[in-house]
Amino acid sequence: MKRRPTTPRASRPEELADPEKTRRLLDAKVDRSGGPDACWPWLGHTSPNGHGQMYVTNAHGDQHGYSAHRLALMFAVGAVPLKPAVVLRSCNSASCCNPAHLYVGTEQDAARAREALGRGNHPRRSGEANHRAKLTAAQVEEIRATPHTYGSDAAFARRFGVTVGAVTLVRKGIRWGSTPVRRGEPAFDEADFDERGRIIRASGIQNIDEVRERFAEASMSSTEAAGCIDWVRAVGTGGYGRVTITGKNGLTSGYGAHRIAWLLAGYDAPPDGMVLKHGCDRPRCVNPQHLSVGTHAENAAEREARGRGGAEKRSGELNGRSKLTREQARAIRASAGTHAELARRYGVDPKVIRKVRSGENWRELA
Ligand SMILES: [Zn+2]
Ligand SMILES: [Zn+2]
Repeated sequence: MKRRPTTPRASRPEELADPEKTRRLLDAKVDRSGGPDACWPWLGHTSPNGHGQMYVTNAHGDQHGYSAHRLALMFAVGAVPLKPAVVLRSCNSASCCNPAHLYVGTEQDAARAREALGRGNHPRRSGEANHRAKLTAAQVEEIRATPHTYGSDAAFARRFGVTVGAVTLVRKGIRWGSTPVRRGEPAFDEADFDERGRIIRASGIQNIDEVRERFAEASMSSTEAAGCIDWVRAVGTGGYGRVTITGKNGLTSGYGAHRIAWLLAGYDAPPDGMVLKHGCDRPRCVNPQHLSVGTHAENAAEREARGRGGAEKRSGELNGRSKLTREQARAIRASAGTHAELARRYGVDPKVIRKVRSGENWRELA
């Protein structure tokens, strides 16, 4: 049998038998994974009202039960007055041990706070106004806005200090039905993807903040070309930076780094049949200001023109309707490749290749 305590609870860490050990035990059961502003749920034993509880021996050798949040605040600020003072929460998570959400008040303050949060005399109110609810409206919104993946309900349950079942019910809208579901399910917008499921708008990128960080780390101002921002990681065919990105639809694909940079800058991907052209002619450049949308033919023509120096005037290819440069037309006439091969190489219709070969187009080359 435990001896009935004859000395008061500790109001300061120094009044505990072993402050360091108590603090370690407390820290081990507080989940801080949500970050400094989030609720820090208590992972240990809770009383029926949802408060974390811990037995601690004071410097006199007496053991008392303490609210975990009282101990958390005591260690954070150095002292917490005893009864009739009470430790109150500014958030609505009964087991929260984040000192930033805790303050000392009176029983009257506690009653006022309960009333303000709607936890008072209205037991049948739904959602946050229900005194038994452990999730806040913001938490419900976050659960519903996050794409559901394996284990995500359990992760939320740990973070918010509720059961996995509660998270599942909230996500499906069975609980907290009055709180609007932001995107509903599925948790992504079809319009952010093409018919193959590839991302065509930044809003389709999963963990976009992380992707932005990756881009910041993987690109730097060019030392060779002023204004260019070069991709300094993996580079693939044609010298384009390569990057692997997961969409909110769950599909992970490889993309040109310049293409993702374009989306991150707020532009939509070019429509089918169109490409992103580099005005700077540096495929690894991911500066969106150096990119523009054009056809394959324009892209090939511009590359060709730059390849030759590009300064001299060329009447044939500058008539606006011409899809090939003079040099390309010459190369096509000299080539033994099939119409289809050459059409692919120069990004034009096979008909154009036929016309160049027959002399119908670029007659002046003879
Ligand atoms: Zn909190
Ligand atoms: Zn550039």
